[in-house]
Amino acid sequence: MRILLVEDDQGLAEALQQSLVREGFVVDHVSRGKLALTALAVPSHDMIILDLGLPDLDGLLVLKEIRANKNDLPVIILTARDSVDSKVKGLDYGADDYLAKPFDMQELLARLRVIERRLGTANSSLITIDRVSMDTKSHKVYLLDCQESNEQQDVNEVHFSKKEFMVLKALMENAGRIQSREQIESKLYQWGEEVLSNAVEVHIHKLRKNLPNKFIQNVRGVGYIINHPKH
Ligand code: CA
Repeated sequence: MRILLVEDDQGLAEALQQSLVREGFVVDHVSRGKLALTALAVPSHDMIILDLGLPDLDGLLVLKEIRANKNDLPVIILTARDSVDSKVKGLDYGADDYLAKPFDMQELLARLRVIERRLGTANSSLITIDRVSMDTKSHKVYLLDCQESNEQQDVNEVHFSKKEFMVLKALMENAGRIQSREQIESKLYQWGEEVLSNAVEVHIHKLRKNLPNKFIQNVRGVGYIINHPKH
């Protein structure tokens, strides 16, 4: 999940970004309404966290503009204006949720999860393909060892770095569809983060060493794919 965070309070923005990144989100931050609209002209985000009190353009106008552009990305409004009136206005303008400052990080995370579930990319689910199982919430990956002669199914945890996990998640969530290097990179790095040109290849190499043979397939010149298991 890639989030566009629109917040002019630098301290709050940094704290939010840190917490969200720790939870496995990719977060791009802008501090002006106009910059948010510019950023959204290129579709690359899954969700927007929007402050209302922005220095150049009121958040409600940003929201209005987003919806006028037929952009239906989920928007969570984050603001110190906690009057019922501004809340109703925000929701009327097409916000999906509303959180009054000061808010509890746990509450924001819970609301993000609601939106994720609605988008069908819930981070509470278990994805299992062939012998590989991933818990996207606890960030754990397991290898299932099931031998027919053996009634017991062994489950072994495999440890990956955060980025390796995110590459695997991108591929498993899109099983059956080829993911280009650029698509994978967009899920790993936020703006301004330095990306080595072979970073994805390096992560894939590490993943392959610990996963079943041919689990991740290379489609030459196009990208990578994990195939759905044959039924
Ligand atoms: Ca503000």
